[in-house]
Amino acid sequence: MVRRNTAMQDRMRQHVRRIGGNCRLCGEPLDYDIPYFIPGTRKPNPEAYVADHIIPINKGGRHDTSNAQPAHWRCNSKKRARVDAPIIKRSGALN
Ligand SMILES: [Zn+2]
Repeated sequence: MVRRNTAMQDRMRQHVRRIGGNCRLCGEPLDYDIPYFIPGTRKPNPEAYVADHIIPINKGGRHDTSNAQPAHWRCNSKKRARVDAPIIKRSGALN
């Protein structure tokens, strides 16, 4: 399960690397040569590129290459926080 998920993640990253171009979330250039992890750590580099889900998974988007676009890690993590926020609000965690 985890292994299959990782393979799909790799395929999606290869896919968005082939698409190339600027970050679709902030419009700034992406450096496709920055390694995902900060060297010597298991911490993602905020400037690294990731496969962003065009339609978020929790909004019914597919976890495959047809739903992937290039984005910075930092932009993707901000977007995720925004998508999750209304759910947290509905659950009452913010009240
Ligand atoms: Zn960006």
